[in-house]
Amino acid sequence: MRKRDFGAFVNHLAASCELFVPLDVGGMTLFSAIDSSDTCNGLGLENTTALPKRPLKELFFPQEEVLFAFDAGGGIETTEDTSAQPGGGVSPSGVVRVALGVRPCDARSLTILDLVFDAADYKDPYYVSRRRRTALVTFACSEPGMACFCTSVGGGPFDETGSDVVCADGGEEYVMWPLSAAGEGLLEGFAALREAGEEELEAVRKARAAAEARLAGNSVPVEKAVSKLGGAFDRPEWDDVHRKCLGCAACTYLCPTCHCFDIGDEATRTGGERVRNWDSCMFPLFTLHASGHNPRPSRKERFRQRIMHKFNYFVENHGTAACVGCGRCVENCPVNLDVRKVLEVFAAL
Ligand code: SF4
Ligand code: SF4
Repeated sequence: MRKRDFGAFVNHLAASCELFVPLDVGGMTLFSAIDSSDTCNGLGLENTTALPKRPLKELFFPQEEVLFAFDAGGGIETTEDTSAQPGGGVSPSGVVRVALGVRPCDARSLTILDLVFDAADYKDPYYVSRRRRTALVTFACSEPGMACFCTSVGGGPFDETGSDVVCADGGEEYVMWPLSAAGEGLLEGFAALREAGEEELEAVRKARAAAEARLAGNSVPVEKAVSKLGGAFDRPEWDDVHRKCLGCAACTYLCPTCHCFDIGDEATRTGGERVRNWDSCMFPLFTLHASGHNPRPSRKERFRQRIMHKFNYFVENHGTAACVGCGRCVENCPVNLDVRKVLEVFAAL
């Protein structure tokens, strides 16, 4: 596709689906709904080298959502359509939402959240419904950021995991390839597409090699740290590595794979709503018992929990770390507490 046809592609998608793209909203990039290319701030690969500040997870697992409303007479009303529940993956015939401009790490993060919310023995109907109805068009990363370390956790700047279509910079053109029936459906009927030539394919290969070479310099010894963390729960290193932490939870809220939540009833005299909100293991109230006892009484235990959950417990339970190396926690921690440095400490044990 010629680069100048990208706006037409945006309109092609917006004509049949609810379309979300990363937009600058008050200085913060987050996935927002748009009606046409006129409202997408010139979205294009060349304008979106930076990872959106807020993660893709909120399209599937919003920061706050009403699960259902209830009234005093026992009536229950669910606002979310949870009917789309066919077997795994995006339902090709049921796609009603498209996220465009997703980064490979964020696409991959959904396959990690699937292990929690779309497991064989438990399915969160709200998450699963949105997942089945949403296709992802991913922009390959030609210019990975300084804090990115996706290749250290099994991903990569051109990783296809979780995507329905991947779009890469091919010089004068964008080169796109579908990865699922849902992805094929998105490209179908867009007249400006043509078969990619050898010149464009070579440009993509070069961009990929350059991006991977750049990331080689950001390598983090994740595998080694994972192998050591199992026996590191009581190590004295935790006393040092947590010390700067303020407990603000920015790292968990912005992390595309963190998924802790709280559920509460907001009641009135005649009824109310059951609401789910993001929560964070970095907050003292997260584990405070009704008795007043707190098994994670200080920031040290809470910080350890975050690292151990991502790089030890999750690996033991699911065979993968709960981290895609997006670097958001590195870039947004107010005291520069860097997860890469923490992993290096434990890898060196
Ligand atoms: S963002 Fe930094 S200071 Fe805030 S909770 Fe996370 S590690 Fe601690
Ligand atoms: S732990 Fe940090 S680098 Fe890993 S996925 Fe979460 S925000 Fe990204």
